[in-house]
Amino acid sequence: MKNNLLCPVCNGSCSLLDVVDFNKSCEEARGKFLGLAGIPVYYALCSDCGFCFTPEIATWTLQEFEKKIYNDEYILVDPDYIETRPKANAANLISMLGDQARFIKHLDYGGGSGLLANILKKSNWQSVSYDPFVDRNVSIDQLGKFDLITAFEVFEHVPDVQHLMSNLRSLLSPDGIVLFSTLISDGNIQSNQRINWWYAAPRNGHISLFSRKSLAIIAQNNGVNLGSFSEGFHVFFTNVPPWANHIIRLG
Ligand SMILES: [Zn+2]
Repeated sequence: MKNNLLCPVCNGSCSLLDVVDFNKSCEEARGKFLGLAGIPVYYALCSDCGFCFTPEIATWTLQEFEKKIYNDEYILVDPDYIETRPKANAANLISMLGDQARFIKHLDYGGGSGLLANILKKSNWQSVSYDPFVDRNVSIDQLGKFDLITAFEVFEHVPDVQHLMSNLRSLLSPDGIVLFSTLISDGNIQSNQRINWWYAAPRNGHISLFSRKSLAIIAQNNGVNLGSFSEGFHVFFTNVPPWANHIIRLG
């Protein structure tokens, strides 16, 4: 493992921060412990922007992610992903955007089996789901452009955030917005301190951990503004479309 890495967000210099067992999972916060896998996973930290990532896992292929992380046991470390979270996210979006959302085109990026989009369609939304793992035969050029893109539980899972941003930009209408979740690492990850943050969990596929500064740099490099509703829910936007006026004021 090299100790002189460049930051994938800002090109700053990074050094290894800590090593954890591959089986470290978010469920440990609820008292569940999988036992050790015996596989070390190194996290590196950028001294400039605070982005924290796993250099080795970031090089994995889709097949390796499927075999080692998004396999049959994944549900043990993220029991809410199949049903509970899509239902809660759909309810949240409906309450945020109300009836206006029926007139806009919505894409749920990283939507897994498509449950969130299906729930929204029942409320007359024009929703489409796309997941790089599920919809492997779909090229994103075929999907079209969208006024609203949601990306729940996506950013912390991606090995290449520049690639993700380029996909999102190519899918977004000129006045579109991106609503996304990821928990900000500020106060939880610091240089010269061991990682004891529950969210830094290789078994959950949490391989990219964003500081507020790193998200701001990503926004700036992609010509969008960043707003946050909470430590875990954010928005990228340029020109605010009328239907999103009331939510951007909160962000
Ligand atoms: Zn950086």
